[in-house]
Amino acid sequence: MRVMAQLAMVMNLDKCIGCHTCSVTCKQAWTNRTGVEYVWFNNVETRPGQGYPRRYEDQETWRGGWTLNRRGRLALKGGGRFKKLLTIFSNPKLPAIDDYYEPWTYDYEQLTNAPLQEHTPVARPKSLLSGKDMKISWSANWDDDLAGAPDHGDKDVLLKGIADKVRFEFEQTFMFYLPRICEHCLNPSCAASCPSGAIYKREEDGIVLVDQDRCRGWRMCVSGCPYKKVYFNHRTGKAEKCTFCFPRVEVGIPTVCSETCVGRLRYIGLMLYDADAVLAAASTANEHDLYEAQRRVFLDPNDPAVAAEAERAGIPRDWVEAARRSPVYALINTYKVALPLHPEYRTMPMVWYIPPLSPVVDVVRDTGHDAEDRGNLFAAIEALRIPVDYLAQLFTAGDPAPVDAVLRRLAAMRSYMRDVNLGRDPDERIASAVG
Ligand code: SF4
Ligand code: SF4
Repeated sequence: MRVMAQLAMVMNLDKCIGCHTCSVTCKQAWTNRTGVEYVWFNNVETRPGQGYPRRYEDQETWRGGWTLNRRGRLALKGGGRFKKLLTIFSNPKLPAIDDYYEPWTYDYEQLTNAPLQEHTPVARPKSLLSGKDMKISWSANWDDDLAGAPDHGDKDVLLKGIADKVRFEFEQTFMFYLPRICEHCLNPSCAASCPSGAIYKREEDGIVLVDQDRCRGWRMCVSGCPYKKVYFNHRTGKAEKCTFCFPRVEVGIPTVCSETCVGRLRYIGLMLYDADAVLAAASTANEHDLYEAQRRVFLDPNDPAVAAEAERAGIPRDWVEAARRSPVYALINTYKVALPLHPEYRTMPMVWYIPPLSPVVDVVRDTGHDAEDRGNLFAAIEALRIPVDYLAQLFTAGDPAPVDAVLRRLAAMRSYMRDVNLGRDPDERIASAVG
């Protein structure tokens, strides 16, 4: 066992209201500069949606002839010698500025001096399709217009919205917000992909940074990061990325996005993990087992053997104490309500998410009660608004069982707390579901 410490974050998606305060304050602090106008170290995606850069989850497209091996390095797959030679001298496909959405400058004068207009001004929608097919508008931080509605392929039917079919399908729409920053991965493929060795993971707290003096602008990190969270500064010719606000956390202040989050949904904490177990966990054969394999890499800070190893590794005692109090450890390992984003990328991401329970439509409509009412609790889980399969494709490589277990626990916790707050004896079935 080789104990190391890592700063990590858990975000509770039920609490995100999509206000984008985190994105704007992060931008003001870190990327309000020439060369990175298009960059959002923190962005908030509408789901279902394309993400930022758009379709970044389509890994095959972005990697071209390359693939990530278990050490997180870009490696060539298939093809003859000539094809391999060609690929070596070409960076895998990079997102273009259109994939990031065009940057814009806020004109603050407009806030006070703009003439009265008939409609509320909005950012100009950017359509990915044209003419009759024009129905998808998108940007780095909004993707709202169709949410989860099934695609009719017929704009007129959509706009009129009178057919029973359309009404029925819109009742099934769902959406939620997914804030994203760099994952500060345990197995960071950005670092493994860099030919200059400019990207490194800080030994003391695991924050992944770009050494600006060593960066030669190869941009292999942009290709190598499956979350597309490294960006190219076209003024300096260097790569840049989220720094987990290290100058702030070093003096005990939270990251800008956490401190300014309106929903108070970002939990920061210290985790202890077994560095010797990372590669084996990242190589877990079955994709469905990856999130659990990563969970096992995290060490229990209350275990005296772990504390002793931490001391031998030079980790300060107050850091071990901080790991014991860590809300991140509690949410991931103790309560088991947080899951990693796309564990199948095998980079061992360190920003985990509590999946959204969201309103439970059927129950609300039929009875006027919501999922927190104990009479409805277990029926409610069967009538979730956001399909479990959709969440599973984000958080567990498509395995619905662990997502279902988390949602049941969340609903049970809410119901339990409602009983407690109302002075009722908690229902036994609910208490056992809370665990
Ligand atoms: Fe590197 Fe991407 Fe992981 Fe961040 S999310 S550490 S940029 S591989
Ligand atoms: Fe969501 Fe918080 Fe960001 Fe607002 S500030 S969009 S609530 S994560």
